[in-house]
Amino acid sequence: MGEREPRTRPDLELIPAYRPGRSVSSSGAKHERTYKLSSNENPFPPLPGVVERAVAASAGINRYPDAACGDLVRQLAKYLDVPESHIATGTGSVGVTQQLLQATAQPGDEVLFAWRSFEAYPVLTQIAGADSVRVPLTARAVHDLDAMAAAITPRTRLVFVCNPNNPTGTIVRRAELERFLDRVPSDVLVVLDEAYIEFVRDDDYPDGIEMYRNRPNVCVLRTFSKAFGLAGLRIGFAVAHEPVTEVLRKTAVPFGVTQFAQDAAVASLESVGPMLERVAALVSERDRVTAALTAQGWTVPPSHANFVWLATHERTTAFTRACEDEGILVRAFDGEGVRVSIGEQAANDRFLLAAERFRTETAG
Ligand SMILES: *Cc1c(COP(=O)(O)O)cnc(C)c1O
Repeated sequence: MGEREPRTRPDLELIPAYRPGRSVSSSGAKHERTYKLSSNENPFPPLPGVVERAVAASAGINRYPDAACGDLVRQLAKYLDVPESHIATGTGSVGVTQQLLQATAQPGDEVLFAWRSFEAYPVLTQIAGADSVRVPLTARAVHDLDAMAAAITPRTRLVFVCNPNNPTGTIVRRAELERFLDRVPSDVLVVLDEAYIEFVRDDDYPDGIEMYRNRPNVCVLRTFSKAFGLAGLRIGFAVAHEPVTEVLRKTAVPFGVTQFAQDAAVASLESVGPMLERVAALVSERDRVTAALTAQGWTVPPSHANFVWLATHERTTAFTRACEDEGILVRAFDGEGVRVSIGEQAANDRFLLAAERFRTETAG
């Protein structure tokens, strides 16, 4: 009957309370169908054979899953041409990100990343009790790798490079990334977050799997949530040298990756061809949307992912409302801009209509 609440860490008050994304039904749109373009989800259904494999796994839910994700790790090692011991799995690559931070950073340590970038970085850094150091993106919304290298201190434990960057869709290229990696001390871990790698169409994009091979302080993060369309099953992985994957296994939630997720991921790797076809369709939609927005007069950073970024600044709330009125949910970053996922063609058309109306109505 005490008046005081259970004592929790005061520093967690700095983390904004979780705000669920608006769901499709909660927006009062005039349209029959609302499209959710706010979470960078894949609009295609699961790949051929995936649902069947997951359903088959349901017969065994009285058992714990394979803690080592053995089948999946074997298939991934073949797919990526890396040793099995260089792979560590987790509950989405956000789960692996948390494992990485718990394995590297403590109070007093610094975690460095570009800003704006993926929202999970500051939150998970705070949960680890470490300090976030944010280096602003360049005027073209690209990582400022020179400024990031200069921001490394003896306290820096981990550096994120989100490539392509969420939410701006921009990439850093091979030469500048190599120059950066050459400047980072060998005892600082560099995490290349490649959640959107399948959507990149640029010859100078540095594939992290090539970058990590002769660099023991580079860790690559990949996920099944985006191109493979398994966001709901929570499965991702890291590729790194053994000292890193070993601590990732220690900081993982035991049995966190379900057998549904493991089996569905293995089945998805058997459908890489169809996956690539779907990605190609989304890339062509992305390029169509970018061209149409540019024709409407918007400035759009060239996106290498499955979303586009519009720097709407102080009109962000108004623009978000205008999209909702057309039945389109977008991801707003107040005062900065909106991130709009590439969805099915009808959704993209509806978004383009909203964007055009907004420009016409607010012009002059
Ligand atoms: C979507 C995304 C992820 C993947 O998250 P999961 O936890 O695997 O669903 C990781 N990093 C970035 C930058 C993302 O946008």
